[in-house]
Amino acid sequence: MVVILGAGLAGISSSYHIGHSKCQVFEQNAYAGGHIHSEIRDGFTWDEGPHVSFTKNEYVRDLFASSTEFAEYPVFPANYYKGYWIPHPAQTNLYAAPQVIREECVNDFLAVRESSDRVDFTPGNYQEWLEFAYGDTFANNFPGAYTRKYWTTEPKNLTTDWVGGRMYFPAVNDVLEGAQNPLDKSTHYITSVRYPKMGGYLSFAQKMLAGANIEYGKKVSFTSFENRAIHFSDGTKIKFKKLISTIPLPVLIRQSDAPDVIKDAASQLSCSSVLLVNIVANHPAQRENNWIYVYDEDKYSSRINFTELLSPANGIAGKTGIQVEVYFSKYKPMKESQDKIISAVCNEMIEMGLIQAEDNIESTHSKWVEWANVIFDHSRRKALDTIYNWLAQYGLVREENDLEPMTDWDQQFKKEPHANSASLFLAGRFGQWNYFWSDDCVLRGKYLGQTIFM
Ligand SMILES: Cc1cc2nc3c(=O)[nH]c(=O)nc-3n(C[C@H](O)[C@H](O)[C@H](O)COP(=O)(O)OP(=O)(O)OC[C@H]3O[C@@H](n4cnc5c(N)ncnc54)[C@H](O)[C@@H]3O)c2cc1C
Repeated sequence: MVVILGAGLAGISSSYHIGHSKCQVFEQNAYAGGHIHSEIRDGFTWDEGPHVSFTKNEYVRDLFASSTEFAEYPVFPANYYKGYWIPHPAQTNLYAAPQVIREECVNDFLAVRESSDRVDFTPGNYQEWLEFAYGDTFANNFPGAYTRKYWTTEPKNLTTDWVGGRMYFPAVNDVLEGAQNPLDKSTHYITSVRYPKMGGYLSFAQKMLAGANIEYGKKVSFTSFENRAIHFSDGTKIKFKKLISTIPLPVLIRQSDAPDVIKDAASQLSCSSVLLVNIVANHPAQRENNWIYVYDEDKYSSRINFTELLSPANGIAGKTGIQVEVYFSKYKPMKESQDKIISAVCNEMIEMGLIQAEDNIESTHSKWVEWANVIFDHSRRKALDTIYNWLAQYGLVREENDLEPMTDWDQQFKKEPHANSASLFLAGRFGQWNYFWSDDCVLRGKYLGQTIFM
């Protein structure tokens, strides 16, 4: 029997691809799904932060499609900057930005693109990457500000290994033309998304979930790597021969018989938490944008979405369910009470015109999500390396790309299975401590099932 810790997408997918009859999953919550769990409250379906599927991987597309009915539609995100609404990506839609900053952005952008220093320049951190890609003014007013809000730290504290295709590197002409008028093409890396018609994003996991052996209410409280035993907070204990852990790596290590030096390495791993503020207003959504990025640093709101625009079944006709993400971390601790933050966020919605007036607010509630985004700071790789090397004596086989924030799955599936001697596996966004979207979590489970447990 393979023991799997955590019934989020990585745990569910591992069990499904290995074969549910060969796996036992232990989950602390009373429900499955982890971060893709969808909750119904005040008549609305709320995901744990906006979740849409934009995967290009055919296997995952088919798997999700065979789980539930879904809608596929183009997306039109927007940017909010000091009272201005700028279509996304802002780099190529500067026509909608305030004139003074528009000119500075274009001038800086041209200067940096024409600079002879560009040859052979390798940015040493994300701040340098941003300035190199966009010029100082755009870098500092838009992605720099957003980094402080979403990643909760200065761009110079981040590496660049996670950037990949996620940040847009615009063509000069697109920036110049987009500073005059709207372009006649989309330059966003996500053009269309899929979302279940019913049941929130969790519905995409229904096929994998069917038949899974999940014990709920089983919170791992201690792992003995030496004795190959898992202890749960209800006082029970199990032994394992083969273990897949999808629970956050710092939790796995902190609550274990690892020596202090390894626990110290685990404490170097940084993650943001998100406070989700969910607001129901008694009028329809005031904008059609699927989601909105907010750059103003005097506002708590980082990203906003309307849950009924994901699927009409998520909401109640004539009303809107607004979800606002507010991020914190060790770099940016929460300094006010949640009640004060919720109230400030409601005021921000009114100021931005997303709620007509205070009287229109029918209900608010919040959800604290402790593990939101792995922060790709400069300590991550070394800390991970230390932990992985230590775990190797207990059956973890190092993978050549295991420090990379992202996995190229086409390449991964071409590799030889990494070892029959392996008996300890990590899977998922927080289990592997990387930048996995939901499709990556599915594919990690498929990889384990099809290459290692065959
Ligand atoms: C705000 C936000 C928005 C996102 N938007 C998108 C999107 O639009 N598209 C997309 O593809 N992806 C999106 N993602 C990423 C996606 O949610 C994750 O990649 C994926 O859900 C992670 O799955 P996982 O199984 O690795 O981890 P998790 O979902 O965290 O699963 C781990 C499981 O382990 C359990 N667990 C933890 N500790 C213990 C313990 N001590 N004992 C027992 N069980 C435990 C947890 O309860 C959980 O069920 C988003 C993530 C966030 C935070």
